Amino acid sequence: MQEYLPGIELSLELAKRQYESELESKFLDLRPRFERLTSEELPYPPLTEMPITAIVVLFKKVDETYELILNESPYITNTVNQTRNSLNHAEKVAIEKAQKNRLRFQRKHLSDCILLTTVEPCAMCTEAFLHVGGKGIIFGLSQKDLRGKYIFVNGVYKPFRTEPEGYSAEKFLQERNSNMFVHGGYMKEEIWKRMEPFTYLDGEYIEDKNIL
Ligand SMILES: [Zn+2]
Repeated sequence: MQEYLPGIELSLELAKRQYESELESKFLDLRPRFERLTSEELPYPPLTEMPITAIVVLFKKVDETYELILNESPYITNTVNQTRNSLNHAEKVAIEKAQKNRLRFQRKHLSDCILLTTVEPCAMCTEAFLHVGGKGIIFGLSQKDLRGKYIFVNGVYKPFRTEPEGYSAEKFLQERNSNMFVHGGYMKEEIWKRMEPFTYLDGEYIEDKNIL
């Protein structure tokens, strides 16, 4: 996985810009689609759901460039609490919607698609995208970025993710001998800015008694 390295503030900013412009020249039309992932106009209920948004995008590859040409799913936010279904992560639901959309081609695989998501996908969602033959994943904040941070959901603070320490989507895919690509850290400051007002850093986990 490529991700810019921390350093002094100025070089960090330059490294961020360079990293992002490299991604944008490889994945055409990435920025506007990713910006919409962080848009305030999205149905975005931060007080009821983990604020994670995902979309599956169809690409056309010309030489080494991926042109993102069509949204294969709508923009999807988490609906775990609204649906009382712990499997309804934004990424997994986006993958399912994209698969349904494939019916127009009479096929189900997403081998010409990329998953864009604001947070590094968990093992379930990464496995799901692998299962449908997805080509690659681009995400903003990593699981590591969010470790130890809590977010206000449904009246209580909950930890962001529950993957074990050391987990990464890239490592997970390597262990499965997958050649799916993973690029993390894209627009992560912008994504964090959107999430930060609802976060808590040193709290202890308070169980959400409203969710059974
Ligand atoms: Zn997930």
